[in-house]
Amino acid sequence: MSSLSSPCAARHLRRYANTPTRSARSVFRISYLGVFVASLTLAACESGPTLAEFGGNTMGTTYSVQVVDQPRDIDMDRLQQQVAAVLGAVNSRMSTYLENSELSRFNASRETKWLDASSELVSVVQHAQSVSELTGGAFDITVGPLVNLWGFGPEVSRDQTPSDEAVERAKQRIGYRRLHVKNAPAGLKKDVPDLYVDLSAIAKGYAVDQAAELLERQGILNYLVEVGGEVRGRGHNKRGIPWQIAIEKPHTGIRAVQQVIAVHEVSVATSGDYRNYFEQDGRRYSHTIDPRTGRPVNHTLASVTVLSPSAMHADAMATGLMVMGPDAGYALAEREALAAVFIVRTEDGFVSRASPAFARYGDGDSS
Ligand code: ADP
Ligand code: MG
Repeated sequence: MSSLSSPCAARHLRRYANTPTRSARSVFRISYLGVFVASLTLAACESGPTLAEFGGNTMGTTYSVQVVDQPRDIDMDRLQQQVAAVLGAVNSRMSTYLENSELSRFNASRETKWLDASSELVSVVQHAQSVSELTGGAFDITVGPLVNLWGFGPEVSRDQTPSDEAVERAKQRIGYRRLHVKNAPAGLKKDVPDLYVDLSAIAKGYAVDQAAELLERQGILNYLVEVGGEVRGRGHNKRGIPWQIAIEKPHTGIRAVQQVIAVHEVSVATSGDYRNYFEQDGRRYSHTIDPRTGRPVNHTLASVTVLSPSAMHADAMATGLMVMGPDAGYALAEREALAAVFIVRTEDGFVSRASPAFARYGDGDSS
């Protein structure tokens, strides 16, 4: 896709940040979209703000970048190549869908001594480990064997539940405390030879941060970067107001807006049970696994959206809170002053509950 820049065409642009592309699911698994860019009205203008945008496929999903009022010296085609290179580099280090990624090679190794790792992989694993501590182990990147067992990993999808014995066996292999990480020199170490790390719940957020920081280094002040529904925005949109992000209603088949939020210097990530799941005997099995039970989460929480300066943190915390559930998750968001919106299924439909810190961000303009 080449960059678009048609600043003065009067048009409505309703753009889904992550329209799942099943054909592009080779790397990270396609899941669902929690947020999408709200309807933007681009007014006809001669001298108003300009919008340039581009996007493509990455990590088995899509990405998009929007830049408003780009500095004159920025060549958008070159910027697009640089963003694609940054995203490709993250993928080639952190994907479990690429057999030859740095992470896949670590997973395949049976060594229990320190192994050299890139500083990028180390920094993501370090952050993941801190989120595991914060969430009491609800977020756990060693959960990979269970993700694969339930059919949500790189191996073939399944639509029936595994046996109790298989779940118990996979549970024996997991535990974030069996994974060690260090700097200088950067390295990773497993305590058990068959430990398997899955960064799918955090790497997209990290990729968003990397792309956003690339834009900022080039002096771009108004942008929205999105990878697979995880978003980071700064400055203003084409209308001269903060970027507007819609949190979806957690319906399976249709897209509808639950709430619109204004995004300025913040990232937004959502985890939910309504896109990537299978059903058996009337029960839904989603791709978020509770490491304590070895099974997909089973509670009334349909989605969690987290706002944080770091997209990596928002991504990981959304998954962690999704595992913790509506009460323990909410209590943690409150304690940590984390901005989060929990959407719970009730007999009367979806009920949304925002943590106190969410008030800092305020509602968007849903017009
Ligand atoms: P998405 O990939 O749709 O953005 P998440 O960020 O919630 O959604 O990541 C879900 C993925 O994270 C799962 O497909 C699985 O690979 C992995 N995962 C599942 N359960 C956990 C968990 N408890 N901790 C960390 N990662 C998990
Ligand atoms: Mg996540």
